[in-house]
Amino acid sequence: MPYQSPISPGRSWYEDTAGPRPEYPALDGDRQADVVIVGGGFTGLSAAVHLARAGTNVVLVEAYRFGDGASGRNGGQMGTGQRAWAEELEGEYGLTRARALFDLAEEAKAHLLDFTSANGIDIDYMPGQLSVAHKRRYVDAYKAHAEIMASRFDYPHITFMDAAETAERVGSTRFFGGVRDTGTGHIHPLKLVIGTARAAAAAGAHIFERTPARNIASTGGKVRVTTAGGTVTADRCLIAANAYGGDLEPVSAAHIMPIGSFIGATVPLGAETGVIPGGEAIDDSRFVVRYFRKSPDGRLLFGGREIYAVNDPKDIHIQIRRQIAEIYPQLKDVEITHGWGGYVGITMPRKPFVREVMPRVMSIGGYSGHGVMLSNFFGKLYAETVTGNRDRLKLIEELKIPPFPGGRSLRAPLLFLALNWYALRDRI
Ligand SMILES: Cc1cc2nc3c(=O)[nH]c(=O)nc-3n(C[C@H](O)[C@H](O)[C@H](O)COP(=O)(O)OP(=O)(O)OC[C@H]3O[C@@H](n4cnc5c(N)ncnc54)[C@H](O)[C@@H]3O)c2cc1C
Repeated sequence: MPYQSPISPGRSWYEDTAGPRPEYPALDGDRQADVVIVGGGFTGLSAAVHLARAGTNVVLVEAYRFGDGASGRNGGQMGTGQRAWAEELEGEYGLTRARALFDLAEEAKAHLLDFTSANGIDIDYMPGQLSVAHKRRYVDAYKAHAEIMASRFDYPHITFMDAAETAERVGSTRFFGGVRDTGTGHIHPLKLVIGTARAAAAAGAHIFERTPARNIASTGGKVRVTTAGGTVTADRCLIAANAYGGDLEPVSAAHIMPIGSFIGATVPLGAETGVIPGGEAIDDSRFVVRYFRKSPDGRLLFGGREIYAVNDPKDIHIQIRRQIAEIYPQLKDVEITHGWGGYVGITMPRKPFVREVMPRVMSIGGYSGHGVMLSNFFGKLYAETVTGNRDRLKLIEELKIPPFPGGRSLRAPLLFLALNWYALRDRI
């Protein structure tokens, strides 16, 4: 039987195309470390590489297999800047701070590409991103966005597309305009997870799979992470469990909420279908965003963050084919070969959550659907804080992230209602 992630639905197209996926042992026995990391997605694995390379004794425990969470199963879209547009951040924080946040995200982008190339990790990078208006009323905002990015944020790679250019580049007349970003691209996320785990192990990090942390306690200047196979005692701890952390640590749970997101992969499409001839990644203007892209072998990988019950991965196939047909009617009967999903960690203001949640315990996550480039970089920034420079991570720590309202029992139902309301608003 092919492997199935126990924590995310469906088997992904990435799992069938990533090449060998080495297995790592479970923790067996007690350990001492400088830093213990809980969670082996992009955030945790990247922190492990950079800490180990800085000479830190680091132990990482992953509950299942590396890539079983969001990092191995996402849309692969890198994007540009933070999740919120730079001009929104400018309105909230002023130009200087918005520039600092934008520049940090640009560093994150460069870091991802430099890290993979320096470590020989082939991530199937494909350039280009189109962001498109699904309602006419959003077109002016896209036009202004392109101008502002060039004039105030020194980012010249975004250009406005009118309806005709949008139709040509998307291969569909469904959208009213948008922007094209030639300064970013999209990747095969599971290849990045596998490559980062390899780099971490090669650098001397002690990395363990199938080792769920059951408890984290910080007392007497030490942090103890308890697992079934042993306890790790360390000077510091990074919680990098993101949307999959459950009730492991209450402050993170109150601030980071899991939302299901689902992707379907079609059979390879011939050029005659006219779908995204330039091979860019696309995201639309819905609050409950639709995101899609072509794979190197010509499949359409189509994702949506709609809320529906998934009892069977075939349910994903049906929903995704319906969404594809709204944009590409010629694909209404297209064969979907893979349908899968995962959990995105979101915060109330859709900005990352970085906080010391107990003495010596830092929690990082809540990238709100924008973690492909940010999470890898934040792992490196965490390593920097351990080795003495907290300045850059501070910029994110200082963002105000309130907890979700409703307390433990009401948080999820309230979010469900809110998302349904936004999904309805996307349609009118
Ligand atoms: C379907 C989907 C599509 C997405 N598309 C995009 C996109 O196109 N662009 C973008 O920028 N972002 C996207 N995202 C978000 C992006 O994938 C995440 O922001 C990023 O992967 C977060 O990485 P992470 O390491 O913080 O979390 P994860 O990759 O989720 O890793 C957390 C890990 O912690 C482990 N864990 C949890 N609890 C414990 C415990 N008690 N003990 C040990 N380990 C534990 C989990 O098993 C998991 O492996 C998408 C996400 C999904 C699910």
